[in-house]
Amino acid sequence: MKITSVDTYLMQVGPRPDSSGVLGADAGFRGSRNWLFVEITTDEGLTGVGECSGWPRVVQTAVQDLAHVLIGQDPAHVDRIWNQLYRAMLGHGLTGTVGAGALTGIEMALWDIKGKALGAPVWQLLGGAIRDRIPVYGHASDETRAKALIDLGYKTIKTPFTGIVDLDRVGMLRDVIGPDIDLAVDAHGPSWMTAQDAILVGRELEQLDLLFFEDPVPPENLDMLARVRDAVSVPLAAGERVGTIYGLRPYIERDLVDVIQPDTGRAGGITQMRKIAAMAEPHGIMLAPHSGSLGPVAEFAALHVMATVPNILQLERMEFDWPGRYEVVTPVLQVEDGCLPIPTAPGLGVELIKEEIAKYPSSRNISDAPVDDGHAYTLGTADEAVHMQTRMSRARRLRR
Ligand SMILES: [Mg+2]
Repeated sequence: MKITSVDTYLMQVGPRPDSSGVLGADAGFRGSRNWLFVEITTDEGLTGVGECSGWPRVVQTAVQDLAHVLIGQDPAHVDRIWNQLYRAMLGHGLTGTVGAGALTGIEMALWDIKGKALGAPVWQLLGGAIRDRIPVYGHASDETRAKALIDLGYKTIKTPFTGIVDLDRVGMLRDVIGPDIDLAVDAHGPSWMTAQDAILVGRELEQLDLLFFEDPVPPENLDMLARVRDAVSVPLAAGERVGTIYGLRPYIERDLVDVIQPDTGRAGGITQMRKIAAMAEPHGIMLAPHSGSLGPVAEFAALHVMATVPNILQLERMEFDWPGRYEVVTPVLQVEDGCLPIPTAPGLGVELIKEEIAKYPSSRNISDAPVDDGHAYTLGTADEAVHMQTRMSRARRLRR
């Protein structure tokens, strides 16, 4: 079997239903995300699909630039091709999330072809399934959404800090959902949050019995994360913004987190995800793949990985997402009792519906559209340059 073509499908994805409440979000802009799917075709008629994140509009160009390495190759040699592609990018510098995003979608599609060729789901080729259902968690900022998730069987809810640390709201959610539902908080590693800030917040969160406190500080400086880890007892989670075993290595080797969160669309591929999980296993670190910006193909890939990894926690899921999510692939996954069943069809078990994807051409791919109200970089405002915001009144952002 030989690869004959590599095609990309880039699409605009509508705003999250609650995006009007997000600091800095442009509620009038209908697409805060892009999804990028890859399809690899072979001379025997078999095709494989994958998904890439890590700035999809840019990753599309990277995939197209790598395509000539793939044409004519036997898609069965997944790891050999991955290493060829990895080496092909060396001249461009370290493999960041753009390069890792391209590797990811391509490798995912190769596994899909292999599974279809052998008539087996991908998890079967990875050593078989440890479990047949994968627990998922959903997002809620308020009581209504939290209850809607619980009604669907969700056992864990994650709530964000978006610009301001609103501990009262997190406390309210803990009261509403009760002690039997897990609660997590995502601070999104804001550039204005210092280690001291995160320690202050983390100590407040200790009394809320969190499943984890995610990205308490910006990930660019892991020494800050180490300071937070040393000072608080709340479990920490991070890792969504880096790719490959090399990017995730310090989080694991330095025991900086309790939960490692590689993004299934830019971690480097299915095998990289499994290697990351294996690195984390002897450290007692649990795998909870990031899915916040991802589409439905990556979700399928995450299920295959998590079926085979002993040290999983939960998969992030965008429940109540933009409606197009449920129109661009088949089949559509449904949560049952807080879990997604692992796919059973050969390969990844998901197919693109290209006519639907074509209805949403990409127009822009910057998720946090700046609102230019004429006051940008004004001292003492939320629009002030991020590195100067540490001089603002801390109480306004951090205190109850
Ligand atoms: Mg996050």
